Amino acid sequence: MSKIESLSERAELRFWGWGYADEHLSAQEDQLVEGMVSVMAPNNTEIAPPSIDDFDLPPPRLELPEVFTAFVSTTKYDRLVHSYGKSYPDIVRMFLHQIDNPPDWVAFPKTEQQISELLAYASKNNIAVIPFGGGTSVCGGVESDIGEDYQASVSLDLEHFNKVLDVDPISRSARVQGGTLGPDIERQLKPHGFTLRHFPQSFRFSTLGGWVATRAGGHFASVYTHIDDFVESTRLVTPSGVMETRRLPGSGAGPSADRMVLGSEGTLGVITEAWVRLQSLPVWKASVTVTFQSFSQGVEAVRLISQSGLFPSNCRLLDESEVHANHLASESCALLVLGFESADHPVTPKMERALIIANDCGGKYTDVKYINTQDQVIKPESADSTAAAWRNTFIRMPYYRNRMVGFGIIADTFETAITWDKFDQLYEGIKRGMEKAILEITGNTGLVSCRFTHIYPDGPAPYFSFYALGDTKGDLSNALKNWRQIKHAANELVVNLGGTITHHHAVGRDHKTGYEQQTSKLYRQTLIATKQTLDPAGILNPGALIDPIKRVFTSP
Ligand SMILES: Cc1cc2nc3c(=O)[nH]c(=O)nc-3n(C[C@H](O)[C@H](O)[C@H](O)COP(=O)(O)OP(=O)(O)OC[C@H]3O[C@@H](n4cnc5c(N)ncnc54)[C@H](O)[C@@H]3O)c2cc1C
Repeated sequence: MSKIESLSERAELRFWGWGYADEHLSAQEDQLVEGMVSVMAPNNTEIAPPSIDDFDLPPPRLELPEVFTAFVSTTKYDRLVHSYGKSYPDIVRMFLHQIDNPPDWVAFPKTEQQISELLAYASKNNIAVIPFGGGTSVCGGVESDIGEDYQASVSLDLEHFNKVLDVDPISRSARVQGGTLGPDIERQLKPHGFTLRHFPQSFRFSTLGGWVATRAGGHFASVYTHIDDFVESTRLVTPSGVMETRRLPGSGAGPSADRMVLGSEGTLGVITEAWVRLQSLPVWKASVTVTFQSFSQGVEAVRLISQSGLFPSNCRLLDESEVHANHLASESCALLVLGFESADHPVTPKMERALIIANDCGGKYTDVKYINTQDQVIKPESADSTAAAWRNTFIRMPYYRNRMVGFGIIADTFETAITWDKFDQLYEGIKRGMEKAILEITGNTGLVSCRFTHIYPDGPAPYFSFYALGDTKGDLSNALKNWRQIKHAANELVVNLGGTITHHHAVGRDHKTGYEQQTSKLYRQTLIATKQTLDPAGILNPGALIDPIKRVFTSP
């Protein structure tokens, strides 16, 4: 067993990819993946995923004092699990048995005191500390890629900070510890009749602290969906002390301290707790699938719906390539998965109005599915199966990718946001630009598809998926090299066409150049000055979000 002697109390994770170690594809899912492989990589032989015995990690570069040994691990399993996040290059490097920057230790503190002591020791001894929630980063956020300036690195896992500590039913908020995984938050809130209702695709494996640190986006399309809007107050343990904010529903008192913690990506401190705003469990729900002859008709419908004040909970528009890739329709069309929900009032009038707008733009639909969970009235049973099929593929896709990597297939996503006036140009530019880049880099045609994950009155958040044959002979190191070039092209296209380098996946290490392009130097210097106050020795997650402190401080 790979997890022997681990200090982690979590179920064994698949250290090299997505999921728990004992989760596997069903026979039907295996067939589905093989179907994709037969089209994309017909001549490649599958490379088996790695086993823990394939790895030989260098010993830790330093010895830690005894005071830390009770909660610090050096086992191979713990160091491997904490070596990477879950992006395509993370998984392919595991297949290649290539661990570029293993952390020297993995710490599993149980108290804030232990975190403070570790931060103090690391500050004195020039050791980098990388906060680790669920490790689902897709932008190099948790890798100990810290440059040459540090003696060693420690991955700081918050898994023991896993409780809902208080629930205030009057204000509808809860105090939740930073390392609590999505399902554990919902399980602990359920007896109180509340939900946080924050469901990123990575929900099962990611944590509240990770969501706050990366400004995660949930499943819902509008209004309360970014974790930003749920945060009432935060508690940050830094090398300079604890910074806690006051619980307030809103405040006009100066720049918001919580807004500084949100998106700090482990570079300013460790988020040990946050008060978060809750919601009652929804009672009324309505959902429907609308088809459009063209994506541009769907875009117009979504723009009008986003500006109508209806605020749908789901408004996921899929372009023709996304519909085709997911086998959701027999003919070419764009597809809108539209939904409303409320804990307080029926949503039928909202759905009816949104459908009039969609219909005016050429949208066609058959059954609307209405649910009233109190009365158990569900009609009609068969409605909305397309949405269910899409949702299932969406949740299972990271498991499919585990296998596709071994065939040399590059499967990756990136996301952005853009105002409506520039959307068409961005969409066309990215589609054409990515298709060209994939062809030039790999010598083969790839697939680039798009859907909206979130909508705002002033613009959508488009999410692009791309698939390419990384290497015609299944050479994974060449596939990795090609991915780097394709990713570089994607970053350039997104920023040059006016979008943000990330809408919810965070900056990490992989998006840092784009982040620098879209922010002013003065702002970045302000951020660095803040870091200097909270983390004077520059030990916290060096290299993520902003440059390693020593480099930047000498030449800002
Ligand atoms: C298959 C898949 C689907 C995804 N779907 C979504 C999605 O729908 N929406 C979305 O927003 N993202 C998504 N992501 C990206 C990722 O899940 C998010 O960025 C998530 O918020 C990371 O949470 P985590 O707990 O795993 O953090 P980690 O990956 O452990 O860490 C991410 C960053 O936050 C820092 N950090 C973590 N915990 C703390 C803490 N307590 N204090 C200070 N810093 C901390 C880390 O140092 C790192 O910089 C997805 C990723 C994958 C692989």
